[in-house]
Amino acid sequence: MEEIDQFADELGPAKIIHVYEPRVGLRGTLVVDNVAAGPSIGGLRMAPDVSTEECARLARAMTLKNAAAGLAHGGGKSVLYGDPRMPADRKERLVRAMACALGDIQDYIFGPDMGTDETCMAWVKSEIGRAVGLPREMGGIPLDELGATGFGLAHATEVALRYRDFPLVGARLAVQGFGSVGIHAARFLVARGAILVGASDSGGAIHDPAGLDVEALVATKRSGKGVREHGKGTPIAGEELVRVDCEIWIPAARPDVIREDNEARLKAKLVVSGANIPITPGAEERLHRRGVLCVPDFIANAGGVICAAMEYHGATQTAAFQAIEERIRTNTDAVLADATRRGVLPRQAAVELAVARVRRAMGWRRWSIF
Ligand code: NAD
Repeated sequence: MEEIDQFADELGPAKIIHVYEPRVGLRGTLVVDNVAAGPSIGGLRMAPDVSTEECARLARAMTLKNAAAGLAHGGGKSVLYGDPRMPADRKERLVRAMACALGDIQDYIFGPDMGTDETCMAWVKSEIGRAVGLPREMGGIPLDELGATGFGLAHATEVALRYRDFPLVGARLAVQGFGSVGIHAARFLVARGAILVGASDSGGAIHDPAGLDVEALVATKRSGKGVREHGKGTPIAGEELVRVDCEIWIPAARPDVIREDNEARLKAKLVVSGANIPITPGAEERLHRRGVLCVPDFIANAGGVICAAMEYHGATQTAAFQAIEERIRTNTDAVLADATRRGVLPRQAAVELAVARVRRAMGWRRWSIF
């Protein structure tokens, strides 16, 4: 109970479960934050340095995201300790063990996240019969292959530009975390006229004011190299990406990458969060005060979970992408219009919108769950 107390408020978390099986090296945590709207959906993150705190914060982000997106699902998240690049047979054993250890927790549905993918979800589904973000062969809409989250980010960016004084055509873009989300966000935005001038991954960053060819950079990544080894542009340290001259900055990697100690270096005028919780609250406040517009993570990056929920309920790929476009455009505009009208942070407007929906759902929840 003490651990729940550390994170508890009026919404959750409903459950924190740790799993440990030394024979296979399994160590993991599940946080089911809130299930008022329905069983929680949230990704399984695999990394050596995850923590219960990161898991709890991400689970809350999922509660807000799913509520804001109008899904019949609550929020949860799971983390698995380990290097996701470990040999495939060891990774498969660990992911299957994690799924089996949590198979009885019916109010959590696994999805992919950093360090896991459609194949991992296929292993989970085959073990416990419950996962989203599946390969096509298992009835899935491969959201990372199609770029569901990047597609949603591009729509959030287009709508956010109604509140800025520059157009998307010719806008310079930097993407932190050139992975599934970052690559597709860059693809969709460059297709609409933006210029990718910087990108990073866990090995460092690349900067080219003249513009980087997205597909060539993807080919570099596919060949197993990091963005620094691209051969064009200037390799720079990963933390230097924040000071690259650009109009739009997209965080698409880990939490807390824009903090009070580096926020002042950010030159962009618009930050559209692909990653979950990439900006600390203090930094977001300062950015707001100096006129940088930050579209909150759980509004902008809901494309993946909207796609996952549509898949879970049997929708087609076309219907899923229509839903992403419609819901993200509507929510981004509602949040930014409300924030502008009241002079508050977009995050405050977004949290209020989502919490009001969760509270209403909690009011209708049947008593037998207690
Ligand atoms: P991914 O593993 O495909 O890509 C992550 C990328 O970030 C990789 O290129 C990795 O090298 C890079 N990276 C890791 N640490 C870094 C660091 N310190 N600095 C710079 N780059 C770093 O993961 P993803 O699916 O693209 O997810 C990225 C983020 O977006 C996560 O925060 C995830 O929770 C969030 N998100 C993902 C989805 C989705 O649909 N996949 C949906 C919503 C939110």
